Amino acid sequence: MKELFQMLPDPRFHLVYGITQRFSEGPSPRQVRLNREGFKLLEGISKKMLVYPHQKLGVHPSPAKGDVFSPIFGKITEVNERSIFVEAVEPDEELRAAAQSVEKVDLLAMPERGGELVPILKGLGLNTGSLGQDCETLIINGLNPDPGVTWAEPMLLAHQRNLHNGLEMLRRLSPARRILLAVPKEIRLQHHDVEIVHVPSHYPASVNALVIKAVTGKERPDGVGIVGLHNVWSLGRVAVTGLPLTETVITIGSFTHSGNYIVKEGSMIGELLAFANIEFRDGDTLVRGGPLRGESIEKLSRSVTKGSTGVFVVEAGSVPVMEGHSPCINCGACVLVCPARLSPNLLSRYAEFALHERARKEYVEQCLECGLCGYVCIARRPVLQYIRLAKHKLAEADAVRRLEELKPVGQGEAASGAAQGGN
Ligand code: SF4
Ligand code: SF4
Repeated sequence: MKELFQMLPDPRFHLVYGITQRFSEGPSPRQVRLNREGFKLLEGISKKMLVYPHQKLGVHPSPAKGDVFSPIFGKITEVNERSIFVEAVEPDEELRAAAQSVEKVDLLAMPERGGELVPILKGLGLNTGSLGQDCETLIINGLNPDPGVTWAEPMLLAHQRNLHNGLEMLRRLSPARRILLAVPKEIRLQHHDVEIVHVPSHYPASVNALVIKAVTGKERPDGVGIVGLHNVWSLGRVAVTGLPLTETVITIGSFTHSGNYIVKEGSMIGELLAFANIEFRDGDTLVRGGPLRGESIEKLSRSVTKGSTGVFVVEAGSVPVMEGHSPCINCGACVLVCPARLSPNLLSRYAEFALHERARKEYVEQCLECGLCGYVCIARRPVLQYIRLAKHKLAEADAVRRLEELKPVGQGEAASGAAQGGN
């Protein structure tokens, strides 16, 4: 990592905030919008149906992707390819009784370990991909992911029961022989059940690859995996409640005003901002995720998912607006800050002109997506967005190539011959 990060003048890049209050409960949503992309709805789940909290609505074919549940009492008002909309209703006795009949699962009393736990956790709404990764050493990234996101310290210091149970479940799930918890060097934490490692606390120190390097002293060492503290919190939450996961912890706010909340999955962003007394005015930018790496979104009617870490309003004028076609002036600032030692100026230009294979030759796939290149770009080019586009296009091309390779010999040629014949 280049020393320049330590010199970045913005004190908000320091990822320790001294916030240790327990999370507030978020609003009771009037409506939720649940992600259903790739999910198969359970039989009978359809529009106009009444649903109750923790009722399973759909399953995902991936064994590592958690199933989807209703977080509220409500009526399904719309189902499309991308979303399930549920409008809150006052439950009658029958619906209340149905909610009370949801069986709690005592995960900690179960003898299952390792891969046997994966389907159980999936059935409780948990994404297990990063939790059960095959590695000798597993590092828990205990830093706030982005500047402005502030839930990591309360997660470590104020929600001990949740953390303890999350760690216990992680130990049962992960094949790793050693589990380490990486925390900012300023945080003094006593945990008898996990080894604590102190790491730098100035962004981009929270980027996974840099946490691994800080802990092991190596870049991309073999046999080392990493999982976010947010995932461990979710695991602990399910172990504590015994119920399917229908919430996430997010920071809601702006750089100057923020709070941490436990909110229902699918909560609409407009409703969350209103609850947190954050105004969204014309010209402001709405960000889902962290202010530096999150995605900018256009509508207050978009919602948060289980993995969401924040919702932010970036006030108009506080950060100069990015310009898609603004030309690079070759100032070199992005090259100086890049922790992956890449040339973001070149990469963004290749992506801009759809020269994705050239971007690959310049190691675009090694980009850590820290967002610093875009942050320092004086020409306000959306450098990270261009890089993500190139990575996405290359991944798509690779998937097509793999499919072609899997086809029996002759079939690919016949198919391409037929396609050519149609032209
Ligand atoms: S986002 Fe930009 S600065 Fe960060 S690793 Fe990628 S290219 Fe480098
Ligand atoms: S910081 Fe922006 S203008 Fe400067 S070299 Fe990088 S992409 Fe070009």
